[in-house]
Amino acid sequence: MKKLIFLLFLLFSLFMSAKPRPLVWVLDAGHGGNDQGTSLRETLEKDLTLSIVKEISTLLKKNKPGIKLILTRNDDRYLSLEERCNIANNANADLFLSIHINSAPNPLVSGTESFYADLKGSNNSVRNGSIVRNIDRSELLAWLLQKNYGETGRPNDRGARPKQLYVCQYTNMPAVLTEVGFLTNFQDAAYLTSKLGIRQISIDIYNALMEYYAITQEKAEKKSLLALRRTNGKDSGIKASKVKKETPIPVRDDPTPEEVERMVAEELAAKAPSKNIKVEPVIEQEKEETPEPEEQEEPEAAPEPTPVVPVFSIQLFAVSKEIKPDDVRLKGYKPVTFKRSGNLIKVLYGSETDYKLVKSTLVTVRQHFPDAFVVAYLGDVPISVADALKLVP
Ligand SMILES: [Zn+2]
Repeated sequence: MKKLIFLLFLLFSLFMSAKPRPLVWVLDAGHGGNDQGTSLRETLEKDLTLSIVKEISTLLKKNKPGIKLILTRNDDRYLSLEERCNIANNANADLFLSIHINSAPNPLVSGTESFYADLKGSNNSVRNGSIVRNIDRSELLAWLLQKNYGETGRPNDRGARPKQLYVCQYTNMPAVLTEVGFLTNFQDAAYLTSKLGIRQISIDIYNALMEYYAITQEKAEKKSLLALRRTNGKDSGIKASKVKKETPIPVRDDPTPEEVERMVAEELAAKAPSKNIKVEPVIEQEKEETPEPEEQEEPEAAPEPTPVVPVFSIQLFAVSKEIKPDDVRLKGYKPVTFKRSGNLIKVLYGSETDYKLVKSTLVTVRQHFPDAFVVAYLGDVPISVADALKLVP
């Protein structure tokens, strides 16, 4: 009898193991608890990474219920790097993705980057074997993340590359650590501290995971990897129809340098019509032949409505003659705007309604422009920062 029960148990076990195991993916929100990661005043990396992980998790649960998802943390708690790896290793996970926000001493450094294990990083043969086994898929996911950030217009694609990072070196499955932008860069920070930005980053990562899923299901990782390497993350070689993507949030494209230049020229020409500034003629698109509305009788022009929200910028310097957006004196800072004031043209970097953000950016900007300072505008009217702050709700 005992033998029979044992035999039945054995058959049962075999039956259970024959059933395909669902894929297990681990999402790791970087930092947590006392470890805040990088920060920009009250914005903390640990909070942003958790928001992103939660958004990805919601998207995955909605659209891919077949994948078992594990979050290393679902709230604000400290976990060592070893603990994070253990969670993935003990679950025998098929994928590990860690999400972080970057920082750099140079405020001009911006953009996204994704890392996978460095083969040179381990002198342990067991670990090395595991890394070699998973390296293609790790690199594949890293490139797909960069591809999807790029597709929604994130600037400065810093690419996918190997790096000796604990969570990449000590996980037994394909593993990637992705940095979704620099809190120390003005533009990245504006993106990362907006709800829309975080939402878009989450969709980008989700879409990369969907592409990874489609490619690995087709066992096309080698082919895809070659295509991604060759095109610097532009093309994964898989038909778009095979990937179930979430629609990105439409984002307005930033104006090109030529457009900025034209707008500045137009603005200056409008303000100082006597100064002979050449303005390129704008070719009018053919308009419908609607008769001009009879508005000749306009009594003295209605005053422009005054915007009530002041905008803060950083004045880098002032010049007496126009300069171009790529002028070397700007040291790569962009976008800059130009405001005429008497005989001078003030060169302003960034424009934000958040004074604290501008103030903290000033610290880093002063490394390049020691005399830079914060200015405030209400519409086109310069006002003192003190007055502007009184208007901030
Ligand atoms: Zn981090």
